[in-house]
Amino acid sequence: MDHGDPAVGARERAVSRVLKGEGVSSGVARGVAFVLACGDRSAAPRRDIDAADVARERARLDAALATARAELEGLRQDVSARIGPAPAEILGAQALVLEDPHLRERVLRLVEEKRVNVEGAISDVIEGYTRALDGVADAYLRERAADVRDVGRRLLSALAERRAARGPDLPEGAIVVSDELLPSVTARLQLGSVRAFVTERGHRFSHSSILARSQGTPAVARVADAPSRIRTGDRLIVDGEAGVVFVDPDAAVEREYDRLEAELRSYREALRENLDQPSATLDGVAVPLLANINKVADAGPALLYGAEGVGLYRTEFQFTIRDRFPSEDEQRELLARVAERFHPREVVFRLVDLGGDKVLPYFPLPPARNPSLAERGIRLLLRHPDLLKAQLRAFLRVAADHPVSVLLPVVGGLDEVREARDVVRQVERELSAAGVRFGAGVRLGAMVEVPSAALVARALAREVDFLSLGTNDLVQYVLAADREDQGVASYYQPLHPAVLRLIQLVVEGAQGAGRELTICGEMAGDPRLTALLLGLGLRRLSVAPGEMLEVKDAVRRTRLADASDLAHEALQLGSAAEIEALLEARRAALSGGVDPRRTRHGLRADGPARGGEV
Ligand code: PEP
Ligand code: MG
Repeated sequence: MDHGDPAVGARERAVSRVLKGEGVSSGVARGVAFVLACGDRSAAPRRDIDAADVARERARLDAALATARAELEGLRQDVSARIGPAPAEILGAQALVLEDPHLRERVLRLVEEKRVNVEGAISDVIEGYTRALDGVADAYLRERAADVRDVGRRLLSALAERRAARGPDLPEGAIVVSDELLPSVTARLQLGSVRAFVTERGHRFSHSSILARSQGTPAVARVADAPSRIRTGDRLIVDGEAGVVFVDPDAAVEREYDRLEAELRSYREALRENLDQPSATLDGVAVPLLANINKVADAGPALLYGAEGVGLYRTEFQFTIRDRFPSEDEQRELLARVAERFHPREVVFRLVDLGGDKVLPYFPLPPARNPSLAERGIRLLLRHPDLLKAQLRAFLRVAADHPVSVLLPVVGGLDEVREARDVVRQVERELSAAGVRFGAGVRLGAMVEVPSAALVARALAREVDFLSLGTNDLVQYVLAADREDQGVASYYQPLHPAVLRLIQLVVEGAQGAGRELTICGEMAGDPRLTALLLGLGLRRLSVAPGEMLEVKDAVRRTRLADASDLAHEALQLGSAAEIEALLEARRAALSGGVDPRRTRHGLRADGPARGGEV
């Protein structure tokens, strides 16, 4: 095993190291690192192996190669039938890589010589190939790097599928360190036993960060070279608020964090005093606070923190933790458990949003030049009516007993809504004909997360019963900055004036059409933005359970007249930096120069108290 004794690590480096990143899920955790090498789409837990294991690893490699070839061939036939033989040939390049005897030889050589498991060896070989290709001048050859990466992903996911239901074995209380945590990987980890996440890629709006927050697990992303600078077995302190990670912290840092953790606890206790208070502004305007949840277990914390309903039930999780599609009955049972707990409060079920970065190992999608701009959300579901109808049947059956509504993901305009509504009606007719109990006339809503939907918000609002503003995707699409891509993270600016204007447009559209509007993107969960959002006219916020108390506190400190002045002023500004400075100045003025969020932790991302390498 590649893990060192933590005590030895501490002795080797007398001074603790502090690595900087971006805090993407707040809280502080301490524990021992477990380094996961992550393929493009699957976790590849690297393990050292014994000589006796080499034969088993060889067999695993051959099985994975066979699975990947079969999968690719199936995909090629599917693409050929649906799109045509020429596009299907694009997959031929990947087939060639898979057939290449050198690939198998190199992987096996690493397994035998380095005594590393097959996942580790594949990751190294693929990385070597792609690095070489990334460096060549010829654009065509450079493009082939993507094919090679995809082959790597395919092999790793073939290997992962055997333990799909369980995910890698993690020691209890481990801190997972990885280059990247894709949603399908995060979902498969035994989340309850993960104390924190440290990743090289990703940021606040990545799906894995959202999952970490919903779980209340501290996480720091964008830690350069995290998997190579941290070793399995290193002792870590992860500060998700300041965005720093201490490796083998010395006694002074440990003491500092004893104090900070105590402070954090008392801050949370203080927030709990708001628990029984209404979510309303200083001038008495109610701002319903709803929960964003991903799984049945999130219902408990959401109710504990006083959620007035579920504004967004992301159903992807039910799909990512399985190695096959959940059946209609399985879906209905899970959804009913949440709806029962919230009854008589409403639960908004969102149809599964697949595509983009949300890929299921058992539902390979045709390779896309740009997955975020390929078919996803409702567009993808409309092409897979069986999947769509099974989920709708599950929703409508739950609606027989509980207030439920249906939310369509990634809507571009009215056409998708009309088409989806036709399918809902068809499902109602089919359930009726089969004599199955269901709730007729459920409310149908559209996510507004594509700029086109925001721009036609009024017409779209008239077409549905409610709108839900998804700023996570809206930001990526309007600013042309992939929410999962670190290379463009600095362009992903939720406070960009273009985003604020679109939000304003959506508010006006919903008001004009007399429809309910909720914001469920991550902006809603950031208490520093609450006044601005209220000032822009938003009145219903749906946030992760762990963020509810802080957001309620921010609502209760806001006077609407001040909020709308703030929004008015922000809309005059030309850049995200200027708007951020405006919000900062307001915070400083309100708190007498002290920002409780920033001083809650003594150590900050911009200057650790001590430590060597930063
Ligand atoms: C959004 O895009 O803002 C949203 C809520 O959906 P998701 O984060 O699941 O894509
Ligand atoms: Mg979205």
